[in-house]
Amino acid sequence: MTDAPITQDVLTLPRKLPEGGKTNLIGLTRPQMHAALLAAGTPEKQVKMRVNQVWQWLYHWGVRDFDAMTNLAKPYRALLAENFVIEIPEMVSRLVSEDGTRKYLVRIAGGHEVEVVYIPEEDRGTLCVSSQVGCTLTCSFCHTGTQKLVRNLTAAEIVGQVMMARDDLGEWPAPGTGTGENGPRLLSNIVLMGMGEPLYNFDNVRDAMKIAMDGEGIALSRRRITLSTSGVVPEIARCAEEIGCQLAVSFHATTDEIRDRLVPINKRWNIATLLDALRTYPKVSNSERITFEYVMLKDVNDSDEDARRLIRLIEGIPAKINLIPFNEWPGAPYQRSSNNRIRVFADIIYKAGYASPIRTPRGEDIMAACGQLKSATERARKSRAQIEAEAGL
Ligand code: SAH
Ligand code: SF4
Repeated sequence: MTDAPITQDVLTLPRKLPEGGKTNLIGLTRPQMHAALLAAGTPEKQVKMRVNQVWQWLYHWGVRDFDAMTNLAKPYRALLAENFVIEIPEMVSRLVSEDGTRKYLVRIAGGHEVEVVYIPEEDRGTLCVSSQVGCTLTCSFCHTGTQKLVRNLTAAEIVGQVMMARDDLGEWPAPGTGTGENGPRLLSNIVLMGMGEPLYNFDNVRDAMKIAMDGEGIALSRRRITLSTSGVVPEIARCAEEIGCQLAVSFHATTDEIRDRLVPINKRWNIATLLDALRTYPKVSNSERITFEYVMLKDVNDSDEDARRLIRLIEGIPAKINLIPFNEWPGAPYQRSSNNRIRVFADIIYKAGYASPIRTPRGEDIMAACGQLKSATERARKSRAQIEAEAGL
């Protein structure tokens, strides 16, 4: 088996845009916006108020034009326009699945593209957000892992995905109403489960989620945001402390031998090390369970013995186990476990006292299901032989 690269050394675009040196207001945290407005010439006494006003226009009303910010005097709007832009990723295409799932292709600076998926359910609407173009990790069952990483997304590009989806869903509040007065939210949850490893782009993911959580704007509760990691152990505690969102972990195997093959980051931080980090996850409580994601691969990780080992491993950790039937992609070196196998596996876990929901694949007809995302803008494609070599086949 080749040693897959485990690296986080990737580019993030600078905040200053090259054209005219204007700064994008989207993606700035409140303190950053404060500093930017001050530097642009806002009188010191007014900055706090201006941040509040601009923030509301951007994130509560969804306004993208300085001229629409009617509670700001005209000269101040001109000052903003001279120094700043309001930019979110551009939607290039939208596919709608038979089941209502929407897959967006969005273009970001540099001409790169990432995918974003909206999944409507009866009681919620979840947006699956990408954090990187491609991924540096090379999990052998994941389509994104076959794409060479191009770069980290900026905070603007991450929160911009949420804003773009709200544009498409027509979900910005009508003038004169407050957030929450427009009936149940269409976009009520965010999962960082799109392309990329969010904990390898920590600062931008954190800033974007802080903006999405801010009560004066998009105002999504931290309980409605779930970050999924393949197991970047040193960043797990920071995730609890600095974001405070829900955590999901791509566990997928019950022995280091198999996990090394499926999730190569396991060679750096193995199962025992990962479980230690989860046990001490400061926010762990009965109401905040960690989700263990477990992709069901035929004859690889789906035996009764695996189910029993899994229960032994996670003992003492408040947990829910989310079983994900493997979603195929062209050239994938695995098969999905049979429905019967998945049910028996789920039953063993359920009888041990853990919730064990089986994730229904959504948007399969438009290649929008978990692990199927891969943008067409990749620079190099791995060969089938390379994929199989990395999977140890
Ligand atoms: N990089 C992060 C988040 C993105 S992947 C992580 O790995 O956790 C989101 C989830 O989809 C992960 O649990 C991932 O393991 C799973 N996944 C990837 N490829 C899949 C596939 N082909 N079928 C089903 N699930 C898959
Ligand atoms: Fe990256 Fe997650 Fe796919 Fe692994 S499963 S290659 S960490 S996106």
